[in-house]
Amino acid sequence: MKKIVIAIDGPSASGKSTIAKALAKTLHYAYVDSGAMYRAVTLYFLENNIPIDHPETVATALPKITIRFQRKEQGNRTILNGQDVESEIRQMRVSEYVSQVSAISAVRREMVRQQQLMGKHKGIVMDGRDIGTVVFPEAEVKIFVTADIKERARRRYTELNKKGIQVTYDAVLENLHERDRIDSTRAVGPLRKADDAFEIDNSHLGLEEQLELAIKIVETKIGEKM
Ligand code: C5P
Repeated sequence: MKKIVIAIDGPSASGKSTIAKALAKTLHYAYVDSGAMYRAVTLYFLENNIPIDHPETVATALPKITIRFQRKEQGNRTILNGQDVESEIRQMRVSEYVSQVSAISAVRREMVRQQQLMGKHKGIVMDGRDIGTVVFPEAEVKIFVTADIKERARRRYTELNKKGIQVTYDAVLENLHERDRIDSTRAVGPLRKADDAFEIDNSHLGLEEQLELAIKIVETKIGEKM
């Protein structure tokens, strides 16, 4: 079957990674969580005291950061400079800072460059905020996933709680509001639905229904049944 690029964008905690992972599994495609890359850069900046308002320090730090993904039975692991940081990058201290870090144009330039390399041979599902608009504007399939913010906060709160991360629902809701605001108003690569993206609002949709919809979109685009 013809290999394509599938770009999935949407706001924080919209469930885009769940649908992206399921789609990649069904198609036997690679899956890349671009948000994990911005989170890894943020963790590096926090741990190395890189001031985000100091462009030269940021520019010197960026080449020292290597991010890769490791596929494991229990899911993808994010590896920052050889260390598994999958749990650390999901902590609230990273969530609270990541939108500021990802608004820096030098950071975006470097991440977009690495993401485009990952998609060079196609056969990839990548999720994020600017995948269909900036990273792969030529992607054959673009999906924009949304959900009501209270529903998103409820899901993220439950997910963090399950992982034993201590946080209140209100703090999660506030963080989502703030990230939505920064992500959609920044100058470079803002969160935006591409004109040719198909929108899925999953406030009241389960994974099976979303996957079915997504597969139909893929089949229509490539003109083949799966
Ligand atoms: O997807 P996730 O919520 O984990 O992403 C964390 C943060 O990374 C987002 O709030 C956003 O600031 C940033 N991000 C981005 N561009 C992407 C993916 C994520 O700016 N393509």
